Amino acid sequence: MSGVGPAKTAEIAAKVEAFVRDVVAPYEKDPRRDHHDCPTEELVVELKEKAREAGVLTPHILPDGSHLSQRETAIVLEKTGLSPLGPLACNTAAPDEGNMYLLGKVGSAEIKDRFLKPLVEGRARSAFFMTEPAADNGAGSDPSMMLTTCRLDGNHWVINGRKAFITGAEGAKVGIVMAKSEDGACMFLVDLPDPAIRIERVPDTIDSSMPGGHAVIAIENLRVPADQMLGASGEGFRYAQVRLSPARLSHCMRWLGACRRANEIATDYACRRQAFGKTLIDHEGVGFMLAENLIDLQQASLMIDWCAGVLDAGHLGTAESSMAKVAVSEAQFRIADRCVQVMGGSGVTKDTIVEQVFREIRSFRIYDGPTEVHKWSLAKKIKRDWKDAQA
Ligand SMILES: Cc1cc2nc3c(=O)[nH]c(=O)nc-3n(C[C@H](O)[C@H](O)[C@H](O)COP(=O)(O)OP(=O)(O)OC[C@H]3O[C@@H](n4cnc5c(N)ncnc54)[C@H](O)[C@@H]3O)c2cc1C
Repeated sequence: MSGVGPAKTAEIAAKVEAFVRDVVAPYEKDPRRDHHDCPTEELVVELKEKAREAGVLTPHILPDGSHLSQRETAIVLEKTGLSPLGPLACNTAAPDEGNMYLLGKVGSAEIKDRFLKPLVEGRARSAFFMTEPAADNGAGSDPSMMLTTCRLDGNHWVINGRKAFITGAEGAKVGIVMAKSEDGACMFLVDLPDPAIRIERVPDTIDSSMPGGHAVIAIENLRVPADQMLGASGEGFRYAQVRLSPARLSHCMRWLGACRRANEIATDYACRRQAFGKTLIDHEGVGFMLAENLIDLQQASLMIDWCAGVLDAGHLGTAESSMAKVAVSEAQFRIADRCVQVMGGSGVTKDTIVEQVFREIRSFRIYDGPTEVHKWSLAKKIKRDWKDAQA
């Protein structure tokens, strides 16, 4: 992926950073929250309008439809992450960002016009339907356990099954649904809402920045025109793979911004607050925590840049994105935890975003592949490579 070059990237990133710090951050205390403590649709629309006015809506996709390179995207998405509301305002949040990337890569001209355009323009939200309820023993860490079925009936596919943890399904206008035909996994584009896609419940979760929460869904005789299948029957996992590495990495990018901001807040606290006759940072225990944060932030940034470079070179980056995802999400969890600790009681209050970053980063060690699953797949690769070396 060629991108726009360092100068243009720096210009976009600076504009985004100023917008997120000056315009978005003051909204962090805005009381407009839904029954799951997520920002309301009204608040999100208002923030997107401000981003549109500031010229920073969907900043990683240019007006001609071209996408920044992954390394450039990393620089820009990190800036959107400086506030938990930043990705929503700038239209770089999950799952929309990953869904836009996928449709931009593999969608037909008609699919792009109908489903991608409203997403890029920030006029619609989307949801990605893959995971299934653990209670049904459906797809989770192991997507091959998928129970949702699709069968061809005339020129329509008929889909039945249940899904879980579907971020943003409530309120989304575009859905990407995965189901299994006789040929294997399939991927469909659907208009939402649809009476055949019923929200059973939206469980209360640890996080509070994703509009619509994470729904449990029943899909009952959903009829999808055949031309709304992405690619061919049985190719669904191949397309999921296209989305997987970049989407994993973009979570790392946004959370890096959030961790940087949390670290700024904790540093400010440690440099002002006194205890036992000196400022906190002058106590070695505190200074070391902030030093370790600096090291983890730098390592995370380098891992992201390295993996982004692999993707830009045209590789799928499956192993690299597993390594990056594990290293970065685990480092970010440590950073957020240290920020809370440095700030004492203030760290667990909602007076700053530190508490929210700490809560939400916990889930990132699970979604887009739990740490253990990535390590397990890397171990399989190590064994394969060892065997090849013996042959
Ligand atoms: C906040 C959030 C948002 C999400 N959004 C979406 C979404 O929009 N769309 C969607 O489709 N899904 C979504 N998910 C689902 C997510 O992708 C799954 O939670 C994840 O794939 C794990 O599946 P599971 O929860 O069923 O855990 P399980 O498969 O039950 O695994 C539980 C644990 O078992 C361990 N484990 C599993 N396999 C192995 C292994 N091979 N080796 C070692 N340990 C292992 C891991 O520690 C893992 O955490 C979301 C999840 C969360 C938490």
